[in-house]
Amino acid sequence: MRAIVVGAGIGGVTAAVALEGCGWQVLVLERSAELGEVGAGISVWPSSVAALEQLGVVGVQKAAVTAGPAGLRQPNGRWVVEAPDLGVEIPVMIHRAQLHELITDRFGPGVTVRTGITVTGVSQDDSGVTVRSADEEFRAELVIAADGIRSVLRSAIHPASKGPRYSGYTAYRGIADVDLSDGGGETWGRGQRFGFAKLIDGRVYWYATANREAGLPPGPGGPQADVTRDFVDWHEPIPQLLAGTPPEQVLQNDIYDLELPLVPFGTGRVVLLGDAAHAMTPNLGRGACSAIEDAAALARHLRGDLDLSTALSRYDAERRPVTARLVKQSRMIGRLGQIDNGVLCVVRDGVLGVGGKVAGLLAKRRRVEQSPV
Ligand SMILES: Cc1cc2nc3c(=O)[nH]c(=O)nc-3n(C[C@H](O)[C@H](O)[C@H](O)COP(=O)(O)OP(=O)(O)OC[C@H]3O[C@@H](n4cnc5c(N)ncnc54)[C@H](O)[C@@H]3O)c2cc1C
Repeated sequence: MRAIVVGAGIGGVTAAVALEGCGWQVLVLERSAELGEVGAGISVWPSSVAALEQLGVVGVQKAAVTAGPAGLRQPNGRWVVEAPDLGVEIPVMIHRAQLHELITDRFGPGVTVRTGITVTGVSQDDSGVTVRSADEEFRAELVIAADGIRSVLRSAIHPASKGPRYSGYTAYRGIADVDLSDGGGETWGRGQRFGFAKLIDGRVYWYATANREAGLPPGPGGPQADVTRDFVDWHEPIPQLLAGTPPEQVLQNDIYDLELPLVPFGTGRVVLLGDAAHAMTPNLGRGACSAIEDAAALARHLRGDLDLSTALSRYDAERRPVTARLVKQSRMIGRLGQIDNGVLCVVRDGVLGVGGKVAGLLAKRRRVEQSPV
């Protein structure tokens, strides 16, 4: 059986590994000239590490740092919730390019990659699917649309679906070459947030958000100058991290997600995966993780003794409700974090501070109850 994966982001390459593991011949079509990922860190949650391991992608734990529970601060450095041990699961932090490479290293002889191919359309009949680019056609029994938030294939199979929806804020990301003893965490101000965490090589991944109109071009000094201006008077090590980041490496993305309800993930022989299916704001750090878990779920259903149509319906039934919840929760956290009214920020910080203390006490009680007498 042949499958085509459109898009070689983290979702697409994981899907290729997963499908090959089920015995499919997989053709990956990617519009960029080269395979790879952007220069930023990414949080990977335990369930996604486990999903990767099930697919034979090992080594994520070794290449990653377990993010410590570091808490939430205000721009002046005052703790809102201080380094709490909330007893919750914690993700690992890894460089995106490293994660992408760990996954593509698993490609076997059943995976063929064609870069520089921009898919423009898809059509299907009883026996298969045809994927088109400007000057070529490709045929398979199944197509995985992993072509990201602005998915051409989502629009093709769900022409009435709404496109991406702007969140009201932009995000900056960078990796600073500085030596830090600070354990990391997040700082929330008025309409702005900053977070950072260490990578395994000692460098520090940071991200920041700021309320902003969609599509505004950066100022004359580029994103680095914009983000430095916005956060210059925030507590250390934030200015130090910004100063320690090469300006040309600072990334900026306006943040979008997909509106609910999400469209069905499958139609006939075409199935959506990752951001193409359920793009969410990055506030939970779960977008790529969900793409990984989609791929693992798809493989599980395809491996079973089911016809293709039933397997794809089960994939949709498993993944659409879970990811719809994440889209919603992530959007809500973003709204809370981006409040720019001073009074509401004081109320928000007060509520989060009390909530953090209660959660810490509950975690402590759980530990006492579970400890051997
Ligand atoms: C600031 C920020 C921070 C984030 N942090 C985290 C985090 O910590 N943890 C986490 O889990 N997630 C995080 N995310 C979300 C995560 O980046 C995405 O959910 C994830 O990259 C989606 O992967 P994907 O493979 O579905 O799509 P994409 O990464 O968008 O990949 C789509 C691929 O398809 C290709 N493509 C598109 N159109 C075509 C076409 N027509 N033909 C051929 N190829 C095409 C593109 O070139 C691209 O390679 C973050 C996102 C942002 C913006």
